[in-house]
Amino acid sequence: MSSQRERVEVVEVGLRDGLQILDRVVPTRDKLDWIASEHACGVRQFEVASFVPPKYMPQMADAADVVAGARTISGLGVSVLVPNVKGAVAAIEAGVDSIAIPISVSEAHSLANVKRMPIEMVAQLKEIRKLADQAKTRVRVDAGLSTAFGCTIQGHVSEDAVVTIAQACIDAGADTVGLADTVGYANPAQVSRVFASVRQRIGERLHSAHFHDTRGTGLANVVAALNEGIRSFDSSLGGLGGCPHAPGASGNIATEDLVFMLEAMGYDTGIDLAALIKTQHRLTDWLPGQPLYGKLGLAGVPKNFPHAPQVAA
Ligand code: ZN
Repeated sequence: MSSQRERVEVVEVGLRDGLQILDRVVPTRDKLDWIASEHACGVRQFEVASFVPPKYMPQMADAADVVAGARTISGLGVSVLVPNVKGAVAAIEAGVDSIAIPISVSEAHSLANVKRMPIEMVAQLKEIRKLADQAKTRVRVDAGLSTAFGCTIQGHVSEDAVVTIAQACIDAGADTVGLADTVGYANPAQVSRVFASVRQRIGERLHSAHFHDTRGTGLANVVAALNEGIRSFDSSLGGLGGCPHAPGASGNIATEDLVFMLEAMGYDTGIDLAALIKTQHRLTDWLPGQPLYGKLGLAGVPKNFPHAPQVAA
């Protein structure tokens, strides 16, 4: 039965998007424990860190060690966030499978976040593409278009700008483009429109979606993107995450809630939901006192949950 269900990829980004805004620094061994535990539930793709200067983000100072540890787990795809060429050099040396380059469509957000205009970030992507091509093993280059649905600093972000930057990223050598609602502004009608417009321009290279649940529209936006053909979604265990430039922002859509919804809708994530909820409960060991946002961690798996989980070896 399960082989007939359509596959949807769930990418755990909590170790990057979730941990980057916390005041505390989580020890490397706890991060690796988290990754191993979620991998055992069937999660196969992780964004494990960002390669940024430790003085700006001490939570990510151990990025190379986390990559090295994650690479010892077989069948685990290791992605990292990289905002510049220097970070890309370190990431490729650490042995990542893919690099995600954040490019804010909002000019104001881009300047606040990386002190560069969006088009300057596309130039960085082009340089990183060259580096990736020189690597010993193949490294995928993914462009993540943040603030694609609105921005806490400049407010409106034009849909034309999203299409233009997406095309520029492909021209600069990106393998894939993902659209991110960094600040939780998106609604399903807008998601349908923007994904359809970008898909029309760059086709299958439009690969993934990244939603925050800041205003309660996270999973509704997932459904809208599913309907536009997207089959890869970022999420964060326990709904951790947020954005330093989005005051009061609760986190990413929760991985456990996303897996529940996808499986209940008949998609195959390859993830054991009951085991995933147990791992979600372990977040309180790694992050004592941290508020969590997911629903399934509180409510559990319903008795009529349709599929017997089958975790691939
Ligand atoms: Zn995010």
